[in-house]
Amino acid sequence: MAEQRLLKFVSVERDMPDKRQAELRRMDFQEIYGEFAEAKAAEQAGRCSQCGVPYCQTHCPLHNNIPDWLKLTAEGRLREAYELSQATNTFPEICGRICPQDRLCEGNCVIEQSGHGTVTIGAVEKYITDTAWEEGWVQPITARVERTESVGIIGAGPGGLAAADFLRREGVQVTVYDRYDRAGGLMTYGIPGFKLEKEVVERRNDQLSQGGVEFVLNCDVGVDVGFEDIRAKHDAVLIATGVYKSRDLGGPGSGLDGIERAIDFLTASNRVNFGDSVPDFDNGRFNASGKRVVVIGGGDTAMDCVRTAVRQGATSVKCLYRRDRANMPGSQREVANAEEEGVEFIWLTAPKGFTGEDQVSGVRVGRMRLGVPDSTGRQSPEEIPDADYTEDADLVIKALGFEPEDLPKLWGVDGLEVTRWGTIKADFRSKETSLDGVYAVGDIVRGASLVVWAIRDGREAAESILARLADRGSRVAAE
Ligand SMILES: Cc1cc2nc3c(=O)[nH]c(=O)nc-3n(C[C@H](O)[C@H](O)[C@H](O)COP(=O)(O)OP(=O)(O)OC[C@H]3O[C@@H](n4cnc5c(N)ncnc54)[C@H](O)[C@@H]3O)c2cc1C
Ligand code: SF4
Repeated sequence: MAEQRLLKFVSVERDMPDKRQAELRRMDFQEIYGEFAEAKAAEQAGRCSQCGVPYCQTHCPLHNNIPDWLKLTAEGRLREAYELSQATNTFPEICGRICPQDRLCEGNCVIEQSGHGTVTIGAVEKYITDTAWEEGWVQPITARVERTESVGIIGAGPGGLAAADFLRREGVQVTVYDRYDRAGGLMTYGIPGFKLEKEVVERRNDQLSQGGVEFVLNCDVGVDVGFEDIRAKHDAVLIATGVYKSRDLGGPGSGLDGIERAIDFLTASNRVNFGDSVPDFDNGRFNASGKRVVVIGGGDTAMDCVRTAVRQGATSVKCLYRRDRANMPGSQREVANAEEEGVEFIWLTAPKGFTGEDQVSGVRVGRMRLGVPDSTGRQSPEEIPDADYTEDADLVIKALGFEPEDLPKLWGVDGLEVTRWGTIKADFRSKETSLDGVYAVGDIVRGASLVVWAIRDGREAAESILARLADRGSRVAAE
């Protein structure tokens, strides 16, 4: 199996004329597949000491039964390992690829904490389920009994899809509405292919479709169909729309051409990789090739932008962040990857404006230092006077985070309560919103978060919806 993947990679590499691109493909290959040959997975799994205090499991948002599937993998019982792993996780091979394991399961492995290097849990999880796909163990959902009740899910990201999966397993009729032309949410159009290959997401979408989930794509709720229409059509509704309003930058020159939002840049890049026609890539707007690129921000989205720009052939890629390396929100592993690929990080810098006539030619940069800690203990950046300079740039990408859209207003819904951050208010456990029979999960409730948390929310919402349907069923029977 590992050999098949290697052959696939070698053929890709052979077809690439440009040596640098080929080298990047090699790095992607290492990142995606490196070290996951069968022997390596068993060896890693065998390193688990079965410590009896599974901090890895408690720190995995899904509480995956990690020690047991590691043991089964070490014993070569991969099919059983797969059955156990997929019992708690709708997309184990996706989480294995993109969870920030250093902050979750692996960061809490006792072997890691005793200084001997973590068991590579994510890599083993990915290996188990990739093998399951290759062996044909992953099959479309088959419900034991089909039920008449239906649930409408708005948003085909991991939160919505996880709920769809759990509901279909119980025979509930599920329709997923999404404004994009492909399902997967940010797994399809946000996260770059070098971190998460799109075939991996697509085969899951297909599996759900084959299992009876109905997808209504290119359907923008609030525009193409009303929220109340969906509510009237289904026995329960789940909102899983994510957060897409990009935080913006002001200052002189902020309206110049060549200053773009991270989500637009990444979506265009993903579409190009799907083979779609993207006029704004063809005309150069979202193409970093031959450009001096400056990315503003220090989170994982910024890391995805810098690494995408490198792959598109930018002449230089710099990342401005207002705090220092130790205080950046993005994963240290991602920073290391970016640095290895030639990205320059300019710590303790903040944009103050932009230069250029119509097209941006530079970023006015203020130098910062870290001041006294605020109430959370985090040091606030403060500007160093008279230390500004200009960083030359042909393309500036703003990666400053995302906020929720104003759904009650966009959808014209009275009574759908939101928090002061604009996220939907949903009960911590049941995920039910202020509207009867309407649930909400994922980023639209948590704010920008992680795939694994969206999956957990989706699972919990499905449990609550099933309880509601069962309750209603018993009430109908009693009447
Ligand atoms: C660039 C980037 C990189 C990331 N990298 C990682 C990573 O490496 N690891 C990780 O764990 N997480 C990562 N994340 C975060 C992760 O992708 C999100 O936390 C997760 O996708 C949230 O899932 P969700 O289901 O809540 O929403 P989303 O994945 O955002 O899906 C929401 C869906 O709802 C649809 N929708 C929205 N409004 C409407 C409407 N009105 N009508 C119909 N459909 C609608 C959207 O089209 C979308 O398909 C990243 C995020 C970004 C932006
Ligand atoms: S789902 Fe994520 S946190 Fe949980 S075991 Fe897998 S990689 Fe670790």
